[in-house]
Amino acid sequence: MFKGNDIKPFESKVWLSSPTMHGEEIKYMTEAYETNWMSTVGKNINEVERLVAEYIGVKYAVALSAGTASLHLAMKLAGIDAYGMPEVGHGALEGKKVFCTDMTFDATVNPVVYEGGIPVFIDTERESWNMDPKALEKAFEIYPDVKVVVVAHLYGTPGKVDEINAILKKHNAILIEDAAESMGATYKGVQTGTFGKYNTVSFNGNKIITGSSGGCFITDDLDAANKVRKWSTQARENAAWYQHEEIGYNYRMSNVIAGVVRGQFPYLDEHIAQKKAIYNRYKEGLKDLPVSMNPIPDCCEPNYWLSCLLIDEEAMSKQVRGEQDVCYVKEEGKTCPTEVLEAISSINAEGRPIWKPMHMQPIYRLNPFIVKDGNGRARTNAYIAGGMVDVGADIFQRGLCLPSDNKMTVEQQDKIIEVIKECFK
Ligand SMILES: *Cc1c(COP(=O)(O)O)cnc(C)c1O
Repeated sequence: MFKGNDIKPFESKVWLSSPTMHGEEIKYMTEAYETNWMSTVGKNINEVERLVAEYIGVKYAVALSAGTASLHLAMKLAGIDAYGMPEVGHGALEGKKVFCTDMTFDATVNPVVYEGGIPVFIDTERESWNMDPKALEKAFEIYPDVKVVVVAHLYGTPGKVDEINAILKKHNAILIEDAAESMGATYKGVQTGTFGKYNTVSFNGNKIITGSSGGCFITDDLDAANKVRKWSTQARENAAWYQHEEIGYNYRMSNVIAGVVRGQFPYLDEHIAQKKAIYNRYKEGLKDLPVSMNPIPDCCEPNYWLSCLLIDEEAMSKQVRGEQDVCYVKEEGKTCPTEVLEAISSINAEGRPIWKPMHMQPIYRLNPFIVKDGNGRARTNAYIAGGMVDVGADIFQRGLCLPSDNKMTVEQQDKIIEVIKECFK
């Protein structure tokens, strides 16, 4: 049980990461309204595509209804590249294994299944909390025929892009990059969203900039961009009537939503600077505790989307999670993510557990999961039986996401730091 504290709760809630509007969004939405382009066609959409391609440094961006829609069409394209056009009614990855980031939001992985594929989860490394290249190499030893890999950059910190791409090159496999959380982050000076053959950013409500929803498919391949544009608008052929030679989707971005994204765009760098300041204040404020922040490798500059905390093993009190419940024991001088989250919540602020790794999710529990040690094969629930065997389960057990809203004041953040400190008493 959380013992409580004497700190007065905030009058208005401090969120994990909420939308921050600036005024220009309404101007472009109004423009769509007044010109009657209340549709999935219009100037805002064209502008979003231009702005995204220019900012990230790729040739083509296609504006879609969600990042998930982009990941789906990216999967379909990669499946067709690797295995040819599927028969109608079949997915492009029918029965094929795809290597996937394990510690991520499930929207990275579900599109594999939409296309009939089988996600194989690759364990996480500790330097950036992303896909472990050593575990990926193990995975290729076990499944040498795999041709598609999807990699996410968790919480806005780029993963080990060069190492992963070198392995993919050796095995002639296609990289799909999920940069939904990392828009604006760079790896060796280059934007995420440029490293895969097909890439994705998201404008979901909690992302670094938002359209309330929406996302972009990003590529240097003109043919792929054209296909995504066609598929996303029901795959209509060039005929006077509705003519269909391929299965289509209703995945295009609305011109109203695009107005919001367009209005947000000039503030992307400002949001990143605010999030960076938040990360650094946490790092400084918590430096005397037995904790560390989510790590940042030297070769990259994150967008600092979420600040996270990892409690040292020696300072962890006992915490046991079931499928939907959790309990913990309070021990002197020790704490656990659940207690820290309760403390944060007690002052009307929002934290969140680390994204639960995919190999631990009920829907994916029977899928293969590959770790770097031993023969690479890990039993999904081995960590329960005795001691942690995989990095993802360990970070999930000891880590949490801190309130990272860019509208949080320094005073509010100081109070959050104070309640976290209380937990270690
Ligand atoms: C948010 C998110 C997505 C999905 O984006 P939507 O625009 O919400 O569909 C995909 N992958 C990751 C890692 C995300 O955080």
